[in-house]
Parts: sequence; structure tokens; C-alpha cells
Amino acid sequence: MTHAVLDHVQLARPVPIISHWIDGRPVEVLPEQTGPVFDPSTGEVIARVPRGGAPEVDAAVAAARAAFPAWRDTPLIARSQIFFAYRELVYRHRDELAARITRDHGKTLPDALAEVMRGLETVEFACGLAVHLAGLNTPNVSTSVDAHTLRQPLGVAAGITPFNFPVMVPMWIYPIALMTGNTFVWKPSSHTPGATQLQAELWKEAGLPDGVFNVVYGGREAVAAILAHPGIDAVQFVGSTAVGRYVHETGTKAGKRVGAYTGAKNAMVVLPDADMDLAADAAVAAGYGSAGERCMAQTLVIGVGDAADRLRPMLESRIGKLRIGPGTEPGVDMGPIYSAEHRASLIEWVDRGVVEGAELVADGRPFRHADHPDGFYLGVSLFDHVTPEMTIYQEEIFGPVLGIVRCTTFEQAVGLINAHKYANGTAIFTTDGGAARRFELEVDVPMIGINVPIPVPAGYLSFGGARQSSFADLQMRGEDSIRFFTKQKEVTVRWPEPGRQGPLSLVFPGNG
Ligand code: NAD
Repeated sequence: MTHAVLDHVQLARPVPIISHWIDGRPVEVLPEQTGPVFDPSTGEVIARVPRGGAPEVDAAVAAARAAFPAWRDTPLIARSQIFFAYRELVYRHRDELAARITRDHGKTLPDALAEVMRGLETVEFACGLAVHLAGLNTPNVSTSVDAHTLRQPLGVAAGITPFNFPVMVPMWIYPIALMTGNTFVWKPSSHTPGATQLQAELWKEAGLPDGVFNVVYGGREAVAAILAHPGIDAVQFVGSTAVGRYVHETGTKAGKRVGAYTGAKNAMVVLPDADMDLAADAAVAAGYGSAGERCMAQTLVIGVGDAADRLRPMLESRIGKLRIGPGTEPGVDMGPIYSAEHRASLIEWVDRGVVEGAELVADGRPFRHADHPDGFYLGVSLFDHVTPEMTIYQEEIFGPVLGIVRCTTFEQAVGLINAHKYANGTAIFTTDGGAARRFELEVDVPMIGINVPIPVPAGYLSFGGARQSSFADLQMRGEDSIRFFTKQKEVTVRWPEPGRQGPLSLVFPGNG
């Protein structure tokens, strides 16, 4: 049965209909205005998600604009107190959030829980943001003249987020947008909306005033409405490169501040002196964890010298032991692919790799789950002798497909990474501190791991890529996000002092 037919049949079946969240309450929609949400582990429709557009974006922005002045003027400590309450609520509901992630994404429950906890790091950072909002104050910049800096919120900020981290990636955006005094409109992915409403409800329970945090579901119409809306001042986007480029171009043309953090093709270098067990574990974890659907997945392993020959059998033996199944099942290493369409495209990628001449060492295409034949499962694939001319080397695949690349020197490995069009994360595996040091100095990629395969920086640090992995002047999170979500004012102040008034002068004011 095709998904269009399935969708039609299952419209008649009662499944929960997710509501937009505008001005502190759910806004219901008719079933006809919704699309299906799948449980990828069974292929069943488990909910319906609104297909919002301009009217819903208008309503959310109106609520956010109305809430802005009071939220902007809420004392920092009062904002912090709401954030501490939200942090506690998310922590208390962490298992429920994780279960909701697994339900429509498919990743394993421990992986989903790890996602929630990594997202929470940025909420925790935002709890104490007040100190970062303190501006500079310089007395006596001139005779009887002082200067100080103000950081103020922009107004209404929007976040547009991908399917693969439905809790962590939004939590990399909205805590800093809100804590700096902006109000917020979130457009989550329609594939994985299960954990969204709970986040909105927890904000309300934490005491966030109505209208400060709003959610509109939808696809390209909703995004176009956000980018065109004059009431939105800033947009942070996380998703694929093609959509991110469009969001950045369109949003900046409309006068908004836009940061778009996009696709990736991360490579880890393994030097011959590396701890090969560590490197093999890392490659399998970073290549196949979350079914390879992570922007920080390592999808190319660049073996220097004889490293590839030694690594390959170690990867094969580890791959043979991986358990694939529902993310809720204890002991499962890898869940299903998030959608049937993406699964089909991944099979085409493996087909293409074979046609391009890479050696297919492990073939995940035939895998079916015996108990869930309609689930979107795929086995893991491993290619060897992947070369830079191949599209499986050049393009993001975003699935459990790992490629081994061979080269003879450290310089060649760094050259390959620096020539790639994507630059999100990279890693080196070595026991040679000098080589690691050279790597971090010479490699032109912003997030680097040394014997760490998925080098996602801690939640209080900035995160972001370069080249086609980012269309932004600043990174997201950390200091960069505080800058992104605020405008700066420089104030020069003189208070009249009786008797110190000089004569009128038309000379350009100096600092003496
Ligand atoms: P996507 O680009 O398809 O979707 C991202 C968002 O854009 C979603 O909210 C979606 O509804 C919306 N969207 C999709 N198509 C659109 C269109 N044509 N016009 C307007 N809006 C549209 O990305 P995805 O498949 O949800 O997520 C996977 C991608 O995200 C991968 O490329 C991955 O590398 C990237 N990603 C990047 C980071 C990072 O920090 N750089 C983090 C996570 C994911």
C-alpha cells in the first residue's frame, strides 16, 4: 500500500491529532489539515500533525509580539527563576520526552535520553545567562563623560528544526532566544513532532507567560510565511544544506538576522599508531549510532598507511554483532530509519556506491525485521576503497552507510578534509600528541575530536560548521548565540555638573 493510500485509510482511524501551540494554549485543527506521523518501528500511523501555513504563523507572531514588551522588561532574575523551574521539569520528564522521541524518530531509548540530557545542558547554561548580559561600563571616556553598553533583545525570534534531534536541537536555540528577552515561534519537523507539545506544556508549567513560546507545525508554506513575516526579527535554522541556503538567502533579503546550520559529511582520520580498538569502536558508534542520522555522524574513515587494512576486519566483526530492532527493545543498538522514503533513498545510495566502484564489504539493503515487516528497518553498510570522485564520498547520505578511504600520509588526510565541501565535525585517532596538535591547527573544520568520534561541544559552548555546513556569520549556542539574539547599543553619557560647562564649540568632540 502506498503512503498516500495508507494516509487516506488511516484518516478514518482515530489517532491523536497534534495541535499548534499559540498564546499558551493548544490550537486545534481539522483532520483534513493534517498529515500522518509514523512509528518507524512498525510503519503504523500514530498521530496526525497539522499542515500549518501563513494564518497560523500570523497568529503565533501576533501572540509573540504582544507578549514581547512584558517579557523584555521582566527582570533577569525572574526570567532565570522560570528557567530553573523549566530545567527541573524537563529533568523530571526526561524519560517521557525520550519515549516520545523514540516513538516517532525510531532511535533507541538510551540514545533518546542522551539527546534530552545534551539539550538540557543549554537550558542549564541559559539559567545563568544574566551574567553574560552584563554590558561594559567605562567611566571617564572623556572629561565628565562615561560610556556603557546595552544588550537588548531583538523582538520575535523563530527556530526551524530538523527531524533528527526533536528535543536537543530546539534546546540549542530557544533557551538563549528566550533568556535574552525575545519571544519565540518554533517550527518543528513534521516527521518527529511527538515531544514538541510536552516542551510547550512544561514551559507553561514553569511559569513562562502565554505568548512567549509558540509552536506552529507545517512544511514549506509555514517556513515561507516565517521568512516573509515582518514581525519576525531573527531565524535560526537547522536542517539540510539546500533548505538552509534558501532560508538564509530569503530571510536575510527580508531583513532578518539568519543563522542556518546545515548538512555534513564528517571524516575521522586514523593514523597507524592509533589504538585500533578505540578507533574501530568509535567508527561503528559514530557511523551507525542513531542509524547514521546525526549531523555529527562520522561517515568516512580515512585510514593512513596500513590503518585501513588493520581497521577493516575489526569494523566487520563489530558490524556483525549489531542488533537492529525497535528502539524500545532493550539491547537493540540501532533502530529503524525515520521514514520509508528516506529508507528507499538510502538503498539507492548503496546501489550508487556499487556502481561507482566502491567495494561493498557489508550490505545492509536486504535487512528485514522478522517481527515488524512494515517497519522502516535497514541494515548497516560498509564500503571500502571510497575515493573523492565518488558521489558517496562527496554527498551527505544521512544513514547507516560508512566508507573507508585510504591514503598514505597525514598531509593527504588533512588535504582531503580541507577540500571537502562540507565542514561540520572531524576527528583524529592517534597516540601521537604532536600529530594531534598539528591536526587541530591545520584542519579547516570548526568542531574537532581527538580520539573522540562525535565532538559535539558541551552545551555552554558554541556549535556550528563552515563551508556548506553553515550559512551564518556566528555559530549557534554559547557566546555567539547571545550576540545573535541581541542588539548592542553604545551609550555615551554626560550629567551636567554645575560650574564645569565649557564654552560652546563646533569642534568634533574628542576624548580629552
Ligand atoms: P530538512 O532540511 O528536510 O528540514 C529541516 C526543516 O526545514 C524542517 O522543519 C522542515 O519542515 C523544513 N523544510 C523541509 N523542506 C523544506 C522546504 N523545501 N522549504 C522550506 N522548509 C523546508 O532537514 P531534515 O531532513 O529534517 O534533517 C536532516 C538534515 O539536517 C541533515 O542534512 C543534517 O545534516 C542536518 N542537521 C544539521 C545539524 C547541524 O547542526 N548542522 C544538526 C542536525 C541536523
